[in-house]
Amino acid sequence: MDFGFCLSPSSHVKMDDVDLTTFNHLKETNPDINTCIACGSCTATCTAGHFTEMSFRRLLLMLQRGKEDEAKKMIQRCMLCGKCTLVCSRGINIRKILLDITR
Ligand code: SF4
Ligand code: SF4
Repeated sequence: MDFGFCLSPSSHVKMDDVDLTTFNHLKETNPDINTCIACGSCTATCTAGHFTEMSFRRLLLMLQRGKEDEAKKMIQRCMLCGKCTLVCSRGINIRKILLDITR
């Protein structure tokens, strides 16, 4: 029977199996990343986000879950305009972090 909705696939992550090398390295080189409160201001103002699926908040979540391939695919949409850095409520240098991820 079609109810017009369905259950979302599980987003369960087994953290023991996740490779957090990139995220841990990012935390060491950019400690301010730990102060992110996931407010979404960066995503709301993102130039690329208006036209693509680019979202720094989601990107961080992907890295925290070890989804590096997905994160690196998303980051290709970023234009490095720096608007996200200007509006970040915690003053995180997002543009620098984005650059570090691509290196
Ligand atoms: S604006 Fe800053 S604090 Fe808010 S979600 Fe983005 S990175 Fe995190
Ligand atoms: S630097 Fe990238 S993530 Fe930040 S607002 Fe510009 S396009 Fe969006």
